[in-house]
Amino acid sequence: MTQRDDLAGATAVVTGGASGIGRGIASTLVERGMNVVVADIDRDALDRVEGELGVLGVTTDVTDADSVAALAEATMAEFGAVHLVCNNAGVGPMAPMNQLTLEDWRWMLEVNLWGVIHGVDAFLPLLERNTDWGHIINTSSMSVLAPPPRLGAYVASKAAVMGLTEVLAAELEAAGSVVSASVLIPGPVRTNIAASLRHRPATSNGALFDVDISGNGKNFRFLDPEQVGELVVEAIGDRRLYIPTHGEWRTQAAERHRRIQS
Ligand code: NAD
Repeated sequence: MTQRDDLAGATAVVTGGASGIGRGIASTLVERGMNVVVADIDRDALDRVEGELGVLGVTTDVTDADSVAALAEATMAEFGAVHLVCNNAGVGPMAPMNQLTLEDWRWMLEVNLWGVIHGVDAFLPLLERNTDWGHIINTSSMSVLAPPPRLGAYVASKAAVMGLTEVLAAELEAAGSVVSASVLIPGPVRTNIAASLRHRPATSNGALFDVDISGNGKNFRFLDPEQVGELVVEAIGDRRLYIPTHGEWRTQAAERHRRIQS
């Protein structure tokens, strides 16, 4: 048993936690007895999740550093400490590269990449105050390991998240920090983003994930967000750098890790 096997009473923050994967993570953490702060830009969805899960909802725009700093302040004011931060908020529209406007690029990078940077900047110093443990989990995507068509800006943002988390984890470990970092690598999960991808076919013969995202003939199964929550809880205990949700991606993640370390 590590100290992190017992999560009861510790505090977690989940951005983008009012729906989808973030909500699944939040609900699993609540079941483990954690104090959970859900941060989201969607106030109506936050109201629902507060009522359904018994979390503290804080309206937050992760693209805005001041908003994320206010989230950190609200968390400390309510619970006095923070142990786990899941930088999970993300957006995922798709279009061929030559149809993406600069505005599309900015929006995608501001939410998916700057949102993570703001989360790390605001919470890392607070996590480092802990004497027992602290953990950051940043959400990337399996699309980084097998980039599909029409997801150019999305893949760029998620590749950056993977890269910065790999470096962060290595730096924290080298410094002997009490804080560790992981990158969540979801495959298809039943959420709003996944639904929008499925409804916009990437090829003439079917929706993106239904057809063949990897080029090797596999059809992926969709997970429920709560299953991702369970995987996150498992990973917190053992300082694992990669948290791939689908077995198909464990080999690729392991290979990437081997290359980084060599
Ligand atoms: P979702 O749309 O259900 O949830 C995303 C949440 O982020 C929403 O509640 C939304 O309101 C919130 N959000 C959006 N912009 C925000 C902002 N500026 N500030 C604060 N909150 C904001 O989608 P999801 O599938 O649960 O996505 C969660 C994460 O998982 C994303 O980072 C996504 O890229 C990643 N992901 C999802 C899949 C999948 O198959 N669903 C696969 C790979 C990666």
